[in-house]
Amino acid sequence: MEILKYSAEHDSFRETLRKFLGKEVVPFADQWEQEGIVPREAWKKAGEQGFLCTSVPEKYGGAGADFLYSIIVIEEMIHTRQFGLLTPLHSDIIVPYITSYASEELKQKYLPGCISGDIITAVGMTEPGAGSDLTSISTTATRAGDEVIINGQKTFISCGINCDLVIVAAKDPDIDDPYNALDLYLVDASTPGFKKGNKLDKMGWRSQDTAELFFSDCRIPVTNRLGQKGGGFLMLMDKLQPERLVCTVGALTAAEIMIDLTIDFCKNHNESGKPLSKYQATQHKIIDMLTEIKLGRTFTDKLIADHIEGIKVPIEVSMAKAWVTDMAKRVADGCMDLFGNYGYYEEYPIARFWRDIRVMSIFAGTNEIMKGIAAKFMGL
Ligand SMILES: Cc1cc2nc3c(=O)[nH]c(=O)nc-3n(C[C@H](O)[C@H](O)[C@H](O)COP(=O)(O)OP(=O)(O)OC[C@H]3O[C@@H](n4cnc5c(N)ncnc54)[C@H](O)[C@@H]3O)c2cc1C
Repeated sequence: MEILKYSAEHDSFRETLRKFLGKEVVPFADQWEQEGIVPREAWKKAGEQGFLCTSVPEKYGGAGADFLYSIIVIEEMIHTRQFGLLTPLHSDIIVPYITSYASEELKQKYLPGCISGDIITAVGMTEPGAGSDLTSISTTATRAGDEVIINGQKTFISCGINCDLVIVAAKDPDIDDPYNALDLYLVDASTPGFKKGNKLDKMGWRSQDTAELFFSDCRIPVTNRLGQKGGGFLMLMDKLQPERLVCTVGALTAAEIMIDLTIDFCKNHNESGKPLSKYQATQHKIIDMLTEIKLGRTFTDKLIADHIEGIKVPIEVSMAKAWVTDMAKRVADGCMDLFGNYGYYEEYPIARFWRDIRVMSIFAGTNEIMKGIAAKFMGL
């Protein structure tokens, strides 16, 4: 019995999305990979077809759809074998901060563009000297009348080149307690004092434009702050569950695709006159990987169901993010071994997956941090 109950509408949405991606994304994935960026038109096309920000309420132009629609988009995006058109980051991680915490005026101003694909978002937390520990960020937001002046630098920012709107984590230099000093601000990319740096050269996610961002006396209205003053940490905590689920589902789907590709390869690749899949060593390796993937699927689907029910499961979601992303790395390695020589060549998709999957244990909270969170919540 399936844990997640997809309706006929969900299935039809998946079918339409798959067709769209087959026409507008898959044929260009290799080109984007080489160019290191996805053209903005691709975002626009996805928006026009209703595939961005499906959960945003109808009054802002969204579909007000449930989380299963987000899951469908994540899974189908991974099937395109490119990580440049990073719509789940935009739709399910960044834009929900605006939906939940921005003023009505900011929602009216920005949400329609986020849905249509005219506005591509980014989130700037990480700095050269602050990754896992956000209490150590140096970027400041200093109040000056009705404005806030932002100074500092962010790095490793996804969609840093394409972005039109950035959620920036900055601290109030007048507040000593780092937990109360942190705020999140919406910064329009056209604001004077905001500058995009160079696109960073990465080993994976090559079609995704990761960049540094610079803020030099960047003045924004104080009303661009999300939520209550000093509420940055609480907002981050609130949004971590969906963020980690998005990451987990992405890694799991990649593992499912990799094992399917590998099984197909092993059935059709002969070694000493018989298919590789007929060797017991191969069979055991495949079954071991498949068992882990199925365990991951059951665990993840249960957590998605809990999330949809509004149940907070921080321990389990942290565990799932850590275990599933590590499992996907093991699967990538095992599949690469079975592909042998061929797996190492770009011509075969396993090479790209192996590179792309590697980062998933690092971002959205490193796996060490995930285990630390689980331990903390358990009172260990
Ligand atoms: C492709 C890519 C895209 C990214 N996109 C974004 C983005 O859009 N926006 C953004 O803000 N950031 C982004 N990041 C940054 C990412 O979120 C950080 O890399 C992540 O938070 C980890 O921070 P760090 O790399 O500075 O590692 P560090 O925090 O320096 O950690 C280094 C090592 O120390 C370990 N460690 C740290 N603290 C502890 C602890 N307390 N206990 C045990 N071990 C610990 C970590 O687990 C890790 O193994 C991106 C990164 C990549 C690679």
